[in-house]
Parts: sequence; structure tokens; C-alpha cells
Amino acid sequence: MKLVEGITYSHEHVKIDLSGVKNNEDCNLNVFDETVEEFKELYTKGVRNIIEVTNRGIGRDVEYIKAVAKETDLNILCSTGYYKSPFFPKEVYDLSSKQLAKIMIDEIINGIEDSGVRAEVIGEIGTSQNSIEEEEKKVFIAGALAHVETGKAIITHTTLGKLGLEQIDLLKSHGMNIEKLIISHVDLTGDLDYILRLIDKGANVAFDTIGKENYQPDGVRIDMLKEICKRGLSDKVLMSMDITRKSHLKGRGGIGYSYLLDNFIPRLIENGVSAEDIKTITEKNIVTILN
Ligand SMILES: [Zn+2]
Repeated sequence: MKLVEGITYSHEHVKIDLSGVKNNEDCNLNVFDETVEEFKELYTKGVRNIIEVTNRGIGRDVEYIKAVAKETDLNILCSTGYYKSPFFPKEVYDLSSKQLAKIMIDEIINGIEDSGVRAEVIGEIGTSQNSIEEEEKKVFIAGALAHVETGKAIITHTTLGKLGLEQIDLLKSHGMNIEKLIISHVDLTGDLDYILRLIDKGANVAFDTIGKENYQPDGVRIDMLKEICKRGLSDKVLMSMDITRKSHLKGRGGIGYSYLLDNFIPRLIENGVSAEDIKTITEKNIVTILN
């Protein structure tokens, strides 16, 4: 499936269930009508593509995604892979990196289950906050092998933005083309020098926790983006909301998916980021990375 011309949200979950491990029903995002309503609004504001980074073991539901796409006309790309410890399904503990890569490659080439939908991305595969755990390492090696075989991009999860450099080293040592890597949640670090180092290594960086001000004020995100754009590096940045909870949705008191367009981008413009840089970040970069 190709991208449609327009805005892409690069890191989202249409449906995800982390409620078991987190022991919190709010983390079971499964409210079809409310999601459809918000996605229809996104469409009117120019969004055309959603990269859905839910994968094996955390409630990925391709038939549900297909139904949302049909109702909203949004192009929703699906993912393969495994999230992070302790959210892994049993197969991650039982199988080798090679065997896990084979499962990913099968979902990329032949499709996910019997849905007829192929995985377009390997993601979000993640690491813990202070170390890459054994099973996480296994999944990263599997992801790199699947990337080498299929050319598909990898979207990683970092915990609070940490260990991006270690992720690059690990993937690179197994043959990955780092230009095809998107490191997520880097905005949570608030550390511009660190983010510039990731870019310097060739990786793309995602500011994809926009509006989560309990973790990081948006003012810090804006200051960092302004500086990155000033250095001519807007072609290495992506943006998204990473909505994962029912309470993130508008109807439940949350900021909702459209906050990026309604609130955050206008503030970037007020702070001197050019419309061209915003178009590069929200529309163009993902095309280069996924091609
Ligand atoms: Zn994540």
C-alpha cells in the first residue's frame, strides 16, 4: 500500500490493549465510534495517512483497522513486530531472532493472518528505560534481519526517549540502513544535543508525544524543533500524537488526535518555523523513508 499525498501521522494506535500488564482498563483503546469521529475530523484538516504501530501481542486488530479506514477514508498502514518487555507474547521467549524475523517477513510479504493486508512497517519495537533487555535485543535483531530482507522501515519505541544511540548501534551491526529508521518519543528527553547526535548518525527522529505535557511541556518541544529547523535538519523529523488511552480522546476529556493540527502547529508557526519546514515534517519525510 502506498502513501496518499497529504499529512501523515507517523506513530499512532487505532486500537491497542496494554490494560493487562498496566492493570488499567483505560489502556485498552477500543472505542470504534469515537476513533472514527476523530479520524473524520483529521481528514477534513488534510490528514491522509496514519502509521498504525500496534503489533503482535498488544491487541493489533487488522479487521478493526480496515473498518476504521473504510469509514474515514484514511489510509492506515499496519505494522509487524513486537513492542517491548514485559508486553511480549510467548513466542518472543520461545523463538530465535531468525524465527521471529521469519514471522515478520511473512506478514510483510504474505499479509497479516488472513486479512489480505500486508505489514508496511516493522514497529514499534522498543527498549526499556535503562537497558536493552535480552528479549528486546532478540526482537531488534529480528527486525534488522526482516529489514535487510524486505527493505521495510523500522519504527522503534524508546522509553522516555532513552537509548536511541544504542538502538542505532544494535540495528546497524545487523545490517540496517539507518536512513530507514525512525526513533520514536525523542521529544520526551528535552535534550537537543542528544537528538542532534541521533540525526548525525543518519536516523530520523519522531516528536510523537505532542501534547503530553505531564511528561514534557510543549514549549520545550517547540524550542527544540525551532533549533532543528534552523540548522536545516527538518528533513529528519516526524510528528505524531501517540494516542494510546481512551482518556486521550476528546469525548473523554483528552486532547484528541487533532491537537497537533489545531494547537501545536499554529504555535510552531508563531515561533517562526516556516510552512515549508512543517510540510517537510508532516508530509514529505515519511514518503522518503517508506520508499
Ligand atoms: Zn511507543
